[in-house]
Amino acid sequence: MNDVIEQKPRLVMKFGGTSVRDLGHIKRAAKKMIREVENGYHVTVVVSAMAGVTNRLVDEAISQGFTERDPEYSAIVSEGELETSRLMAQSINEMGHGAQAWSGPQVPIKCDNNYGQSNILQIPSNNIANGFKINQVAVVAGFQGVSVEGRITTLGRGGSDTTAVALACALGAERCDIYTDVDGVYTADPRQVEKAQKIDRAEFEEILEMAHMGSKVLHPRCVQLGMKYNIPIQVLSSLNDGIGSDLKGTMIMGEIEAMEGGAVTGISHDFNDAQLTVYNIKDQFGQAANILSALSKTQINKDMIIQPVSNDDGITRMTISVPKQDADRAQKALSTLGYDHVEVDTDIVKISAIGSGMKTDHTVSATFLQVLANNEINTRAIATSEIKISVIVRADHAETALTKLHSAFGLDRK
Ligand code: ADP
Ligand code: ASP
Ligand code: MG
Repeated sequence: MNDVIEQKPRLVMKFGGTSVRDLGHIKRAAKKMIREVENGYHVTVVVSAMAGVTNRLVDEAISQGFTERDPEYSAIVSEGELETSRLMAQSINEMGHGAQAWSGPQVPIKCDNNYGQSNILQIPSNNIANGFKINQVAVVAGFQGVSVEGRITTLGRGGSDTTAVALACALGAERCDIYTDVDGVYTADPRQVEKAQKIDRAEFEEILEMAHMGSKVLHPRCVQLGMKYNIPIQVLSSLNDGIGSDLKGTMIMGEIEAMEGGAVTGISHDFNDAQLTVYNIKDQFGQAANILSALSKTQINKDMIIQPVSNDDGITRMTISVPKQDADRAQKALSTLGYDHVEVDTDIVKISAIGSGMKTDHTVSATFLQVLANNEINTRAIATSEIKISVIVRADHAETALTKLHSAFGLDRK
């Protein structure tokens, strides 16, 4: 074994669907990878399926009668990443460097049996590390792993980010670079807010909240892993000539000493929620527990919950926000329990302001609500945490709310 090779720092690079959308893009990614090898790293590359391929495979799995929770569904939808990993390893080989393609089960990325939404349990890193000894780059198919039962499973849509950061943790990498079609995490979704600007540095917990509140640039679970194992994550563009070691993307890390900047780091929005209002609830103990445990048992996530004070008639109601796709299931679960007047409103958007500066600046919530009031936008639900305020408003207010809040918190690109 060569000690010098063993002592090289490790780097994980992940390329998303648009970054590997055809052979030309795969080759461009391979060249970036080679530049990092030349910079002195042992590199592991994680790849997504080419843009559009997973959507096609999902349609195919559904047309064959499978649901996300069936092992067969995972077997079908994981094929896209396998194809890209083979093409990427081949391109690297053609450029004169050693590369091995690995499927999730081969690594092995050990997962639980929760097919289609698996959690990673463990990643023994010796197979990949053995490749480093003979100067082989590992090209790993993202989004997949092997269940406890020994079958292929998947991590949920967008899961390749999580594969990449989990591998970076298992390998003790210096950093995980996530290459995508934007040059970093922005103060708001650049497709919605024209004046959004790139964030240079942010803390894990801020980006985690942004991801949970609808900023779809990173899979929330990858940020959670980075935070747990303290592995810096950089989000950067695959579409320019730069590489991760230039450190031009958004660097996400542990605590950042705030020397400048405002209390709010970013504004997120999410159109994927529905509001469920349960009427005719007896205002007595146990009712809220009943309703929420019915939703938990059917594995429905709930976010905001509001129960107004009841009138003198002893009857109350409760408003709960749930993912749109689960609204019908939630309604059925509640009607089985005897709550037969449940209204579902899908015409809503959740808007949030996030920033760790909110821990010390207590004016943010008031400013946030005042901006909405000044623009005659009525809030239907409000929730706060130490570093976030979220509201639900009518969907057609999204654009005004986002742009006005973005300006009010000083986030507009100059
Ligand atoms: P990939 O295929 O590389 O995984 P994704 O589509 O999952 O890429 O994520 C990148 C997209 O995330 C961008 O094209 C952008 O439109 C969207 N996005 C949403 N919110 C943000 C944000 N706050 N900052 C940057 N991008 C965002
Ligand atoms: N290909 C999968 C998806 O489209 C996983 C990923 O790209 O992260 O969801
Ligand atoms: Mg993604």
